[in-house]
Amino acid sequence: MKNNHIALKYMFALSFILAVMFLFRVYYDVKHYDSMLEVQKQTLTNNMVSLFQSSEKSLVDKYRILNTHFINSNLIAHYFKTKQREKLYKLLKKDYEDIKEIDSNFFVMHFIDTNNITVLRMHKPESYDDDLTIKRPIIASVNKMLKTQTGFEVGKNGMVYRVTVPFIHNGEHLGVLEFGIKPEYFVDSLNEKYDVNSLILVKKEKLDVLIKKKEYQQLGPYAIVSKINFPEKFIKTIDLNQSTQVIYTNHKYYLLYTNLNLYDYKGEVVSKILVMKDITSFIDNKNSSLLFVNLLSLIVFLIIISLMYIIFNQFSSEIQKNMKTITILNKKSKYLHTKANTDELTSIYNKRYFDNYLEGFIKLGNKGSIIFFDIDHFKDINDTYGHPIGDKVLKSISKCIREHIRKNDTFARWGGEEFVIILHNLELDMAIQKAQQFRKCIEEYQFEKNIPVTISLGVAEVEENDTKNELMKKVDALLYKAKNNGRNCIEY
Ligand code: GH3
Ligand code: MG
Ligand code: MG
Repeated sequence: MKNNHIALKYMFALSFILAVMFLFRVYYDVKHYDSMLEVQKQTLTNNMVSLFQSSEKSLVDKYRILNTHFINSNLIAHYFKTKQREKLYKLLKKDYEDIKEIDSNFFVMHFIDTNNITVLRMHKPESYDDDLTIKRPIIASVNKMLKTQTGFEVGKNGMVYRVTVPFIHNGEHLGVLEFGIKPEYFVDSLNEKYDVNSLILVKKEKLDVLIKKKEYQQLGPYAIVSKINFPEKFIKTIDLNQSTQVIYTNHKYYLLYTNLNLYDYKGEVVSKILVMKDITSFIDNKNSSLLFVNLLSLIVFLIIISLMYIIFNQFSSEIQKNMKTITILNKKSKYLHTKANTDELTSIYNKRYFDNYLEGFIKLGNKGSIIFFDIDHFKDINDTYGHPIGDKVLKSISKCIREHIRKNDTFARWGGEEFVIILHNLELDMAIQKAQQFRKCIEEYQFEKNIPVTISLGVAEVEENDTKNELMKKVDALLYKAKNNGRNCIEY
């Protein structure tokens, strides 16, 4: 029972340590999981930003090259300079259509003179001779600075990203040639790689120049000018102050990124492309792998606990078995010890024990007296009544004397019908009295078949410097003397 208790205590301590380790693992995973999610968010948004930036750069490069190509044409320069817009339109119509076919988001091809007056709009040839100085600041700036400018700008006919180049032919400044590409271009390039849902936002006040006015849904200081597969219900959860947001709805996770900006030629944010990406599968994968790892840890934990329990159980039952054996051996040894020191017939100490005891008694300098006695004419009793009756007499004598000695006195059968008693701390006088008491008690005792039994006794006090043998010799002599004095008497 006690061993089981200890085993259980160890089991409990170890289980506790393992449980703490297991909980720590779960905690670590949850922590790690958050940072994993953060890394995934960062990676995805960084990739989108760099794709967005590189697509802007390639757009600008492409249309600058095209611009140069047209500006270098003498015929185009001639028609432009002389404002022969029908001829210019006819000359460029096929090229314009071809570019549109290659790039579906290409829209604006616009010739403007040095005074910011439209010469030809390839995208709207019937509209010309309008002054754009105020409405289209990028054109006025390019005419003034004679430097290419790019940026998002809302025009009369649409909201486009502009590549606006000074038209300088053979060193002569003729005006501006501008290409404009719809912002869907950016959405398309993102979509191609990341399969996103998008919104195109434009600053509300920038929409005033549009000829065809429309009611747009509002989002902060922006108007939503285009929705590309963007679910309506998410619009109200968008927070433009947060560049990334994770939205959880209908058991799905979405990453929302609000920081893809389109700037005007002066560097002011005028448009935003908002993208939303379904990241459910990524999170589910992570969740299930985390669940798997933790389940595995739990199983390992349970196996270890069970193994420990089995081992401890075996260990403790082994101990219990050994303890049982030890108890049995202890009992056996005690029994053997008692048996070795006890007289079989009378159950009092035997001579062997008495010898050792007396030796110790003398060595330790104890005080007391010794009585040695012998049954008178015991041979006759045996002869008359038989040996078994003689045995009974021996037993009765032992019983009788035992009843008359104190707990700390030592009583032993010396051998045959001779007995010896050590009376602790009893001087000779008192010992003689005690001996008389014993003698009388035997004389008066009712033995089997009323056999009259008497004893003769020798009494001596244990004196300093006595040896065991001397002492025994002394009392034996006294006993002998008592026998000679007619028996049933004491000598001291
Ligand atoms: P005394 O008065 O001189 O002592 O005479 P006694 O007959 O008692 O002395 P003796 O030494 O001649 O006889 C002792 C007898 O005790 C002999 C022996 O048979 C008997 N005896 C010794 N041990 C035992 C025993 O264990 N059981 C029985 N029944 N008799 C025993
Ligand atoms: Mg004798
Ligand atoms: Mg005798």
